[in-house]
Amino acid sequence: MEWDVIVIGAGPAGCFTAKLIALSGFKVLILEEHQEIGYPVQCAGLISPRAMELAGVDKNTVLNNLTGLRVYSPLDALFNVESSNDLALAIDRVKFDQELATKAENAGAVLMKGVKVDGTTRIAGGFRLTVAGRSKTISTKLLIGADGANSSVSKWLRLSRPNLRAVMYAVDAQMQCADTSSISVFLGQNLAPGWFGWMIPLDEKTCRVGTGYALVKPAYSPQHYFQELVDQNPQIFKDLKIIRYTSGIVPLGKMPRIYSANAMLVGDAACQTKPISGGGIYMSLRGALVCSQTAVEALREDNLSEVKISSYQKLWEKEMEEERASAMKLRESFLNFSDEDIDLVIRFLNKPKYHKLILKYGDIDYPSYLGKKLLNLVLRKNSLIKATLKISGKFRE
Ligand SMILES: Cc1cc2nc3c(=O)[nH]c(=O)nc-3n(C[C@H](O)[C@H](O)[C@H](O)COP(=O)(O)OP(=O)(O)OC[C@H]3O[C@@H](n4cnc5c(N)ncnc54)[C@H](O)[C@@H]3O)c2cc1C
Repeated sequence: MEWDVIVIGAGPAGCFTAKLIALSGFKVLILEEHQEIGYPVQCAGLISPRAMELAGVDKNTVLNNLTGLRVYSPLDALFNVESSNDLALAIDRVKFDQELATKAENAGAVLMKGVKVDGTTRIAGGFRLTVAGRSKTISTKLLIGADGANSSVSKWLRLSRPNLRAVMYAVDAQMQCADTSSISVFLGQNLAPGWFGWMIPLDEKTCRVGTGYALVKPAYSPQHYFQELVDQNPQIFKDLKIIRYTSGIVPLGKMPRIYSANAMLVGDAACQTKPISGGGIYMSLRGALVCSQTAVEALREDNLSEVKISSYQKLWEKEMEEERASAMKLRESFLNFSDEDIDLVIRFLNKPKYHKLILKYGDIDYPSYLGKKLLNLVLRKNSLIKATLKISGKFRE
């Protein structure tokens, strides 16, 4: 075999996995279809300080430190908290990805840009890859699909993917940002069915705005919901000037299998995403840790059999499945809420004692702990919400 490992895709998942395997001395090749790492940007660039630390990327990729959260209900209520710590960081996603790629190269991985893999064939002891526009094939002992939300590798390996996905439309924009330290979240069936809208300020004059849906059959396109978000909040978006736009999807749910003999998936390709927010950067990095750990062990033992590689899935699920499953259940409870229910909940929680609780337990990487606490609290303490949910058959004790 020419390579010990070929990683398809130079996003965070691919570069971080490649770096960790190359550090153990194996021959790693990363193939990226685009000429420039990080482009096109399909991300709002919001991560936790924990994710930043895990990536080991320079702090100069941080564009803004966000300490506050504003949640706008569909019926005009506003929930507003401010922390003394960073709740999240807005990053320059291009620089972030480029730095991860450089770190992978510095660790010994070879990165080839502008190379689109268009097919794989299983051969004895590994895979043979074909590349668009080139007649020469490349072979590897271990194939890692880090090729994102529309993963071709998962299709070639016949690994089934869940149907549910968040479909989003987002822009970088110029506008007067009244509050430069708070993330704004917008809820409502008309502007984000099954999902949420967001506004992330970068400074007084620039921000990222987006929305989308996460339903199997939405009524409209994500652009339509974006326009609704802007139109329904004229006081916030009155002077919005779009600099550039992007769109994209995040797969949500669990893949029954994220491996095969001599092959593994990581990052969005493996559905390693958060069901509530769609955030995938932290999950990709965590996925990369586990993926590379299994890969290194298997390569050292020269055993890339299905049984050996299956320990990747076991390790991943041990780390993240409880959180993912709880977050998915919370998401499903939230989907049962009407706009009126959401409005009631937001008004109920907008009190200093609950602000404290939210700041104490809130964690964008692990939202299910706080989510469960809040749901129980709302249902226990607010008989009106409980009665409304019960009458409409959305809640059973
Ligand atoms: C609108 C939007 C906003 C988002 N906002 C956030 C956010 O604020 N915070 C957050 O944590 N997450 C966010 N996400 C999710 C996040 O962007 C992804 O989870 C993350 O990029 C996953 O990283 P990855 O390395 O798995 O995949 P990607 O970053 O998608 O990288 C995959 C790479 O594979 C390459 N590739 C694909 N096929 C081939 C092929 N055949 N040959 C060669 N190369 C190939 C692609 O060009 C790409 O570079 C957002 C997503 C969207 C769509």
